[in-house]
Amino acid sequence: MNIRIRFQILFIVLISSHFGKTQICTDLIEDSSVYKVSMIYDDVVQLMYQHSEVLSVDILGFSEFGQAIPVLKIENKEKRLDKKPVLFVANLHAREFYSSKFLMKFTNQFLLSLKSDSCIYKNASKYLEEYIIYIVPLANPDGLKIAQQDWNGIESHREEISKIKRIGPYSDWKANGKGIDLNNNFDDGNFHLKHGRLFEEKPASQGHKGSFPGEAIEAKLIQNLVDSIHPLITLSFHTKGDVLFWADRGTHTKFRGLDTKLNKKVAQECDLIMARVSQKPKDYAAGLENYVRAKTGSIGVCVELSKSNNKEAQNPPSQFLDLVWKKCKNLPLIYLDEFSRLYPEYADLFD
Ligand SMILES: [Zn+2]
Repeated sequence: MNIRIRFQILFIVLISSHFGKTQICTDLIEDSSVYKVSMIYDDVVQLMYQHSEVLSVDILGFSEFGQAIPVLKIENKEKRLDKKPVLFVANLHAREFYSSKFLMKFTNQFLLSLKSDSCIYKNASKYLEEYIIYIVPLANPDGLKIAQQDWNGIESHREEISKIKRIGPYSDWKANGKGIDLNNNFDDGNFHLKHGRLFEEKPASQGHKGSFPGEAIEAKLIQNLVDSIHPLITLSFHTKGDVLFWADRGTHTKFRGLDTKLNKKVAQECDLIMARVSQKPKDYAAGLENYVRAKTGSIGVCVELSKSNNKEAQNPPSQFLDLVWKKCKNLPLIYLDEFSRLYPEYADLFD
């Protein structure tokens, strides 16, 4: 075979293997546009069909306006009783679709990595020997629709929505469809003390904690999920500040340093700031992470993806890859790696 033909064959092999690799690991999730509720539902369904051997999808329940809140479960079906459940939640705050996109992209890439060593998460299958991963990528579908002024499916609630006090444009909407900030509505024992910087007595696009804990259906559903699966780690994703809110004064000492070690590692690896231990329940109370720490004694972290921009609005959709994905794509698995390493010393905390 002459050298030219050999070169051509080599070239074709290289191209096809590159192409095959690209196809195997190609992302379902679009990187640079606004992530709409309908797109999230479509992507969830696609994933369910493509990865049914390890992924099951259930409806956790329905939002105030009747939209489905899916919960994804990634599990090696081989039964073992001692697997550790972990929970990742996105979109408690309506406008923050970066968080949904991050979790959906992580889910897709993790599932692809289970099938091929050429995708980004090496040894992905080893995590499923130890963990069951639960993912709620769309906690607040009504709020996300309102923030995106996507009235399709919630048109009949439009008048009701228009009567809720709006602080800023619709695109700044943080609350659920009834004007309750979900991350101020969890029953962590300090709900009565909560009085955030933006405090609204009545339903509003942000800053209203509700009249009682668990008033918002969406918060109650996630609280019930936590109570039923007992996650050892809960990561709640938000989208501003490149910061981890990882501890509060009321619960910090009971973790005996596990929370510090775990979050320090993640902050270093992903170049995030660790917030100071929150001091006043008035400021920190009634979030999902607070509920998890106070009521279940497990690790709960609010992860703020992407840098601050001194605006209410999230950073532009076109910057998702640079500001979120490239920086934090390994974050969930760093938590799991570090937790596995530290667990033997702290196992009694989770008895
Ligand atoms: Zn938020």
